[in-house]
Amino acid sequence: AVPVTVVSAIGAASKFGVIIKSGAAFERLGGIRHLAVDKTGTLTRNQPTVTTVIPAGGRNEDQVLAYAAAVEQHSTHPLAAAITGAAAGAPVAQGVTEEAGHGISGIVEGHRVAVGSPRWIDPGPLQAPVAALEAEGQTCVLVTIDGAIAGAIAVRDELRPEVPEVIRTLNHQGVEVSMLTGDNARTATTLAQIAGITDVHAELRPEDKARIVAGLAQHRPTAMIGDGINDAPALAGATVGIAMGATGSDAAIESADVAFTGHDLSLIPPALRHARRGRAIIN
Ligand code: ADP
Ligand code: MG
Repeated sequence: AVPVTVVSAIGAASKFGVIIKSGAAFERLGGIRHLAVDKTGTLTRNQPTVTTVIPAGGRNEDQVLAYAAAVEQHSTHPLAAAITGAAAGAPVAQGVTEEAGHGISGIVEGHRVAVGSPRWIDPGPLQAPVAALEAEGQTCVLVTIDGAIAGAIAVRDELRPEVPEVIRTLNHQGVEVSMLTGDNARTATTLAQIAGITDVHAELRPEDKARIVAGLAQHRPTAMIGDGINDAPALAGATVGIAMGATGSDAAIESADVAFTGHDLSLIPPALRHARRGRAIIN
């Protein structure tokens, strides 16, 4: 049987948009000593916008954006939304294939167009400007047309304003925080510095996130908080999986112990405080 105090604490939490799936999940939450957080959409607003287009190989900004947007129309990735939103219009693309965590490619007006990460597409002559934009915390994708570098597109996704304060509070609560992201190391490190997170793991695939979380959870109780379908395996492997912005139909909420209906990270420290108090009463 679940103690009455736990039931009432879980009920109270739900009023603030924190859904705790069971008494056992609430108890585990109270024991958390490490929190792993996804970057994109969890620490950031998930409203990426194009700030800069750097053309190369004799192309111009409009061409680079239009060709990139042509293939990105077929993607649901947040970067794709930013690129199609910035383009004035886009031609039709055919035979589009997306490689999760890398990029996307297809045929546009008879030309093979690829858009993707600087790990997937060699930036060539754009190496230095791409590195500089990444050091500012922006994410860059490269665009090739028929295999030749045509340009780089820089996208900024701002940190949620409450993040530094939340990280400070968690540290005071004795919880260490790690950032896990598929984004590049320079962008991740810059945003982590602003957030006050010292442990950063970048350029990860979903299975890497799951492996890291499972490793941390073996040493001490570890929560993982994420929002994407990509994060479902990592949530499942944590002591407590926390899904953000859960709508009820997500793969993430299925594999989570705790779900936030909104994106307010400042609910984490009080949720932890309540769970610790609940634990103290049970034990
Ligand atoms: P995150 O963990 O930040 O959500 P992903 O694993 O989804 O990252 O993607 C990692 C990287 O792969 C992105 O930063 C981007 O460089 C590249 N990428 C993935 N999908 C696309 C796409 N549709 N268009 C361009 N680049 C992409
Ligand atoms: Mg993500």
